[in-house]
Amino acid sequence: MNHIFGPVNSRRLGRSLGIDLLPRKICNFDCIYCEVGPTTNLTCERKEYVPTAAIIAEIDEYCSDPRRMDLVDVVTVTASGEPTLHSGLGRILQHLKEMTGKPVAVLVNGTNLDNPEVVVDLCRADVVVPSLDSALEKSFRRLNRAALCIDLQAMIDGLVNFSRVFSGELWLEVLIAEGINDTPEDLEAIAAVISRMKLTRVQLNTVVRPPLEKFARPVSPERLAEIARSFSLLPGVPMVEVIAHGASIFEKGADIGENKAKFRFLRDEELIENILQMLQRRPCTAVDINRTFMLNGPGKVEQLLEPLVQAGTIEKRLYNGKEYYQ
Ligand code: SF4
Repeated sequence: MNHIFGPVNSRRLGRSLGIDLLPRKICNFDCIYCEVGPTTNLTCERKEYVPTAAIIAEIDEYCSDPRRMDLVDVVTVTASGEPTLHSGLGRILQHLKEMTGKPVAVLVNGTNLDNPEVVVDLCRADVVVPSLDSALEKSFRRLNRAALCIDLQAMIDGLVNFSRVFSGELWLEVLIAEGINDTPEDLEAIAAVISRMKLTRVQLNTVVRPPLEKFARPVSPERLAEIARSFSLLPGVPMVEVIAHGASIFEKGADIGENKAKFRFLRDEELIENILQMLQRRPCTAVDINRTFMLNGPGKVEQLLEPLVQAGTIEKRLYNGKEYYQ
């Protein structure tokens, strides 16, 4: 399957079946912390980059075995880029709602919400998770390296207006990078936008996985907790979570058994294919992979992946004292 991956254990959403709308890497940002890689098509053009019918056909094929959906908590629409750039987003969300019967979440970068068509499309989702890393032009440009067609003020107004019309859950993700958007002025500007929005929660993140650029550095857990405390005091903010170092849902006993049931019967080749699908979207440690696929320890992951490292299909990278496959 080209557009469906998982289910994977998501830190935020539980057992998440991923729907990837775009090939690498079509985006209107080129964030310094991106886990997908450099943006090869930096664009604001909204169009059908991949035939909507092809994505819908994959969804139908996946759903043709109802047992598969028993292993899924939520369907997450994402992209190896920015999903709102795909003009078939609304149709795909509608189809997912009808076919899966599961809550549908969409991860977006916060742009395009000033476009009424995108607002109508996203209103079909149950959960929308937009990002806002900076409300100041200088740090916004340094961190997100947006295409010139992106206007920060229009983006912020779009976010605020969307928060007023969307009736589902709206979780705003803010990623803080050391020395870039962690100044008091930056945090005040973000807080001012949060105060104007109607949110279900704010999620604070930092650079935890190997970033695109080496100069994208994390802030400490203590600093993140301090920022979370200050945001939680803002009027109208029901919840602030630090997701950077959070425990994943798969650490809750009941879920482990079910995932194990799915992956235990996969042959090594199928396991490797599933692991590669996951690595295409984000770098992972052997411990991450072992937890997701419930193997017999990180040693088994190394045994499976070492030949691929030797062959140059994937590589290992040391980041913050941890070794990541990517
Ligand atoms: S992090 Fe998201 S928004 Fe930023 S460049 Fe990567 S895919 Fe685009």
